[in-house]
Amino acid sequence: TRTPVNVTVTGAAGQIGYALLFRIASGHLLGPDVPVRLRLLEIPQAVKAAEGTAMELDDCAFPLLSGIDITDDAKTAFDGVNVALLVGARPRTKGMERGDLLEANGGIFKPQGEAINAGAADDVRVLVVGNPANTNALIAQQHAPDVPAERFTAMTRLDHNRALSQLAKKLGVSVTDIKKLTIWGNHSATQYPDLFHAEVKGQNAAQAVNDQAWLENEFIPTVAKRGAAIIEARGASSAASAANAAIDHVHDWVNGTAEGDWVSMAIPSDGSYGVPEGLISSFPVTVTDGEYSIVQGLEIDEFSRARIDASVAELVEERDAVKALGLI
Ligand code: NDP
Repeated sequence: TRTPVNVTVTGAAGQIGYALLFRIASGHLLGPDVPVRLRLLEIPQAVKAAEGTAMELDDCAFPLLSGIDITDDAKTAFDGVNVALLVGARPRTKGMERGDLLEANGGIFKPQGEAINAGAADDVRVLVVGNPANTNALIAQQHAPDVPAERFTAMTRLDHNRALSQLAKKLGVSVTDIKKLTIWGNHSATQYPDLFHAEVKGQNAAQAVNDQAWLENEFIPTVAKRGAAIIEARGASSAASAANAAIDHVHDWVNGTAEGDWVSMAIPSDGSYGVPEGLISSFPVTVTDGEYSIVQGLEIDEFSRARIDASVAELVEERDAVKALGLI
């Protein structure tokens, strides 16, 4: 029998955590034959709720779930961790300035980065979901100097999946007919969902759409503002779809991307496509043998260039802001 993979989830008692944990335990994160041991990290006042979720996990009798530990101590949570899903974050509340938000999140992601540095397994992979995800990932990474920098990633897979679904609807095709879609930049309203390199049944997606007004005025804003639309309709943030995207991100990072396709992941830039080195920005990536690489050689036209640059400029601003606050 295989040794269980240690999967740590922070913010485990939250909405996303509730949708995420059951799928991890049932084998959707790593595969149907990989046992997992869950570590749940929560703030002290939410530990009891996490214990409740753990009771439900027990009650599922998942064959692959070999144990659950619950803690409010980051060092304990990340000791021996193989896969870290950093979901818990400080949400922006009314009247909160961006600096306050970044500072509050620095207080969360700095100690978590340090704890990962101190105790994580050699093969640790980190996915940051909690917003502002790209910059929170950067903060954690900067406090984990002994972990290879490329192990820190942030989630743009929900944006990717939203874009797939919107495009499929527009063209009346199945999502499986669409390949090579890309989200570039920051997981924020400035993100750029790119159809110019995407393919629909082998045809260029932008050409298949053949409607620049739809692309600019409907597709891009609908994808970028989908989170707000869900809050408006549901009265709560998206949670199950965010959890699903986290599963997809890690699953593909571990198990590889499909031949002839790619996915979107926010990863430390190596300078590709003019994105300053070190920024955690979303790119088209393929994964082989557990290692991702940025798809190279895509031609970026003026329209795409301006959109990518705008989102990357926002990431630079966020990085400079956390630097100025002494968080990195
Ligand atoms: P959720 O579980 O709904 O969301 C958690 C984080 O995911 C938020 O930062 C949220 O950002 C983010 N997120 C990223 N993408 C999406 C998306 N597409 N849709 C929705 N959210 C997205 O939050 P809850 O408040 O329900 O739960 C958070 C939990 O985290 C609480 O139980 C809290 O106690 C815990 N926590 C734990 C910490 C720790 O373990 N050290 C630290 C801080 C909090 P956004 O705010 O922009 O929606």
